Amino acid sequence: MTLRLVNPATEQPLAELETAGVEETDRAVAAARAAFPAWRAVAPTDRARLLRRLAGLVEDHREELALLETRNVGKPIADSRGEVGMVAEVFHFYAGAVDKHYGQTIPVAGGVDMTFREPLGVVGLIVPWNFPLNIASWKVGPALACGNTVVLKPAELTPMTALRLSALALEAGIPEGVFNVLVGPGRVVGERLIHHPDVAKIGFTGSTEVGAGVMRGAAETIKRVTLELGGKSANVVFADADLERAAAAAPYAVFGNAGQDCCARSRILVQREAYDRFVELLVTATAGVRVGDPEDAATEMGPLVSAQHRQTVSSFVDTTPFYRGPVPQGPGFWYPCTLVEATNNDRVAREEVFGPVAAIIPFTDEADAVRIANDTPYGLSGSIWTTNGARALRVARALDTGVLSINSNSSVRVSTPFGGFKQSGFGRELGMHGLDGYSEVKNVYMSTEG
Ligand code: NAD
Repeated sequence: MTLRLVNPATEQPLAELETAGVEETDRAVAAARAAFPAWRAVAPTDRARLLRRLAGLVEDHREELALLETRNVGKPIADSRGEVGMVAEVFHFYAGAVDKHYGQTIPVAGGVDMTFREPLGVVGLIVPWNFPLNIASWKVGPALACGNTVVLKPAELTPMTALRLSALALEAGIPEGVFNVLVGPGRVVGERLIHHPDVAKIGFTGSTEVGAGVMRGAAETIKRVTLELGGKSANVVFADADLERAAAAAPYAVFGNAGQDCCARSRILVQREAYDRFVELLVTATAGVRVGDPEDAATEMGPLVSAQHRQTVSSFVDTTPFYRGPVPQGPGFWYPCTLVEATNNDRVAREEVFGPVAAIIPFTDEADAVRIANDTPYGLSGSIWTTNGARALRVARALDTGVLSINSNSSVRVSTPFGGFKQSGFGRELGMHGLDGYSEVKNVYMSTEG
């Protein structure tokens, strides 16, 4: 089958690619399986050197990769440059982690007990279209560092940078078969990876719905799974917060990547006393978001990824929003920054919109804020804005959420764990925690008696 990709900002053709089917998937798994014994045997310092070389090549090709991502996803070039920079950092981090992922010795009677971190074998990695190269690197980095071989399936809509990364891996000297990329539909290539008996683990990022299917399929062969799924994160603004700062930052936490972000703070919870003032500041800040040509370095928000996705996003806005921003006229899958007043029971506040739509919800006091923030099946990310340090930590501990920031909206750092509570998934990516998902603990006891 031929996959026809278009640039979401222009609707002009971008590329035509042949897609893989079950046979090609089986061949890639066989290649990864054949490459595994030699790759796990590569000396740690050599494996680190190869990953460091890949990081260097990503840096050398930063502009090329960023432009490819921007044209494929429609995201602003400034964002793509930042994301490619992070990809290089991820490979640097895991290059450095190869020989720092220690086992333990445990005091026992009659001998010595030690643990080893062993690779799993062939891992299948399935990633979404919103941060294609970035999220791929969060999985490929620790998987290769631990000595696994990889079959990566990018989303159908956005395979361009993953293909380029696999070519750079070969150029870095990572042996053929260690890092394989398959372009193809989730229902064919993804499903085959989930059911293939030679795949030891699925690292999945995507929707909660598909994630549930991954878990069901993986049960057949007791495959390990890491699931990074949807979110409906709360941005909680207390009346004692620096309202100017909180309001200036809030639009970027939900309209960044055109809202197509699992960490999008798409529920903005505001304490009643500060509600009117905050909303006024929020509207002004939102009006300042620069929407337009993704290839312009000043652009802050581009179009949505596809016409079909735009239709889904529009279906969430069934009341008159209190603010709707401008969008370019002409071709492109544009959708404006949209602010709606909501209760936490409205569909716009309960389901993941995955577009530039923020639900503004008032709350009365700290207990009410915690109750509303936790009243969601998701638990990925979130923010707390207050100048009261004790309250900040109290609320942070009370929220059922994997990644929080206080007086900030950042969620992701190369060296810190990232992942969700509840239906946002389980397992952690990034940092040293990311290595746990790509290795198995082996315990060895050696008798010193006799
Ligand atoms: P999706 O679940 O539709 O697809 C994700 C990937 O799964 C794609 O590669 C797709 O081809 C594949 N896939 C689809 N059906 C499959 C099947 N039956 N078997 C195996 N693979 C299958 O998600 P999407 O629309 O690409 O991405 C958006 C979703 O991803 C949102 O819900 C978002 O919150 C989530 N996401 C989560 C994180 C996180 O880290 N928690 C990060 C980014 C995106």
